[in-house]
Amino acid sequence: MSRPALVWFREDFRIGDNPALTAAIESGRSVFCVYVHDALSPEIRAPGGASRWWLHGSLDALRASLRAIGGDLLLFRGRSRDVIPRIVEAAGCAAVFWNRRYGPERAIDVDVKAGLKRSGVSASSFSSRLVVEPGDVRTQAGGSFKVFTPFHKASLTRDPPPPPLPAPDSIVAATIPAELAARTVALEDLDLEPRRPDWAGGLRESWERGETGARKRLSSFLENGFAGYAGDRNRPDLDMTSRLSPHLRFGELSARSVVHAARFALEASGGSIAREDYDVFRAEIGWRDFSYLLLFENDNLASGNLQKNFDAFPWREDEAAVDAWRKGRTGYPIVDAGMRQLWRTGFMHNRVRMIVASFLIKHLLIDWRVGEEWFWDTLVDADAANNPASWQWVAGSGADAAPYYRIFNPVTQGERFDPNGDYVRAWVPELAGMPSRMIHRPWEAAPSVLHSARVQLGESYPKPIVVHEVARKRALSAFESIRSRRS
Ligand SMILES: Cc1cc2nc3c(=O)[nH]c(=O)nc-3n(C[C@H](O)[C@H](O)[C@H](O)COP(=O)(O)OP(=O)(O)OC[C@H]3O[C@@H](n4cnc5c(N)ncnc54)[C@H](O)[C@@H]3O)c2cc1C
Repeated sequence: MSRPALVWFREDFRIGDNPALTAAIESGRSVFCVYVHDALSPEIRAPGGASRWWLHGSLDALRASLRAIGGDLLLFRGRSRDVIPRIVEAAGCAAVFWNRRYGPERAIDVDVKAGLKRSGVSASSFSSRLVVEPGDVRTQAGGSFKVFTPFHKASLTRDPPPPPLPAPDSIVAATIPAELAARTVALEDLDLEPRRPDWAGGLRESWERGETGARKRLSSFLENGFAGYAGDRNRPDLDMTSRLSPHLRFGELSARSVVHAARFALEASGGSIAREDYDVFRAEIGWRDFSYLLLFENDNLASGNLQKNFDAFPWREDEAAVDAWRKGRTGYPIVDAGMRQLWRTGFMHNRVRMIVASFLIKHLLIDWRVGEEWFWDTLVDADAANNPASWQWVAGSGADAAPYYRIFNPVTQGERFDPNGDYVRAWVPELAGMPSRMIHRPWEAAPSVLHSARVQLGESYPKPIVVHEVARKRALSAFESIRSRRS
């Protein structure tokens, strides 16, 4: 047992319910914990700015957790296909452990595993990221699900998922050969956090990165947001969703442990949490598994339409409109509030994500991939599966997508889900003085109302960049033009 084991962390930055870490410790070997920052392999989508910021905090927190139990996290840079075998050789490792991933980067893992096996080193991979992995559930005909509802129904037959593994309380750290130590890099050298300019102030105010922050967020949601979740999760003006998405994205918490905690909270609540709150929340976690199934089956989920007839869609090029959308200056208050929340905090409420995505795709007729890229760069939860799957869902080009003729009216959506306008007031302060009944449609307000709210349309706040009814008709005819090409 003198040869050490290696745990390769990739997007599972936690010590609790981490099957790869637990198996390595239980192997009885001393353990190296390693992260390889791989910006060279084409299979890995380069993280956007907000994700890089989060990654820095996640790695820092994981290293602290490992140090607290006697281990450490060693950081390397380079092509994983080369770096992992080199570390294994230099340290004389006998076994390598990792948790599985599901995008095109799987090809790297297959190659690394084959290479290790050829050198007589064991390689073990584990299910840890999802509640239901691709292939865990199948249609009656043995195929893969294309539609969410039957997928989710089949997934629920496997509930409850296996109980989460406890965090290890100690680890026997392997001694690092000097040659290997010389090849490690400092976290700061990965250059993940912005410096000049440091635009991350709003992110820092909004989030606590790392496993401890994730656990606090989960407890706070279960105590304060879970009861009533089914009814109020669509209200961006209320703090009713978990905001666990970046923690799940970076694996600071396992989805399984979230489901277990939610079940436990339901059962212990004495009825204050309704079964429906649990079921709706569980379904959202199910959507995440479904997105990963789509990614598993479509390496190009972020670049290619799942419905091929969308390849002929007459998208517009309109840089000025895209710029107004990105900056939250479209003149539609709910859209602008969402885009500004995103820019400031790296997050946007799910209902508002749907509204702003629909606006870009359908009101502006901009290719969904332009929006997907912007979200990829600015969201702290930018996720290789959820982001493109959701954009394709809104566009109508995806699996089980929203029908093309569903075109959200940003005014009625705002009035329905932000009835007092508090969400708009929080993110579009120029409109804070508007009365609730006009805040989602300021261009219809009487001059006296605008005057007393200190709003000068076209100056302090933009006029709408498109007229809803005109844009709606234009979108319907564009979508009609590809309908006959049903894929
Ligand atoms: C255009 C668009 C882009 C999106 N991009 C992302 C993304 O990059 N990363 C991301 O995690 N989610 C994305 N979503 C899904 C969803 O908006 C977020 O997961 C959710 O808003 C996160 O907030 P929460 O943690 O408070 O969610 P909660 O309502 O508390 O849900 C709990 C968890 O379930 C998962 N979840 C919830 N809704 C969805 C969904 N529709 N699809 C898949 N998983 C879901 C998330 O992991 C979330 O943390 C996107 C949605 C849209 C419409």
